[in-house]
Amino acid sequence: MAFQFRVVESAAVYPARCRCGSVKAPLVDTLINDALGRLYVCSRCVAQMAALLGWTSPEDMSVREVAFQQLGATVARLGRELAEAKAAQLTVVDVEELLRRAREGEGVAA
Ligand SMILES: [Zn+2]
Repeated sequence: MAFQFRVVESAAVYPARCRCGSVKAPLVDTLINDALGRLYVCSRCVAQMAALLGWTSPEDMSVREVAFQQLGATVARLGRELAEAKAAQLTVVDVEELLRRAREGEGVAA
């Protein structure tokens, strides 16, 4: 069974800080009391713990989201370029057809 933690803006119970010494809000109040007092965990320590477990930090998620958006833009650009290339290819076919018709016209005239 997991502990029920809560987020607090200030630590009210001794030692009123994370075990790393930080009092920076928000803090997780574990509601656990041991020989050193109430166990609070600051967001930096939570981030370190989460990273050890392979979880992604909000900063990493932001970087990944930007990269994902850039990849999406690249895919969209490549799609447009492919469509333009296909259109250009059709234009070449059209030009060849026009040239063929023009040659036929010259042949008829000659
Ligand atoms: Zn801490």
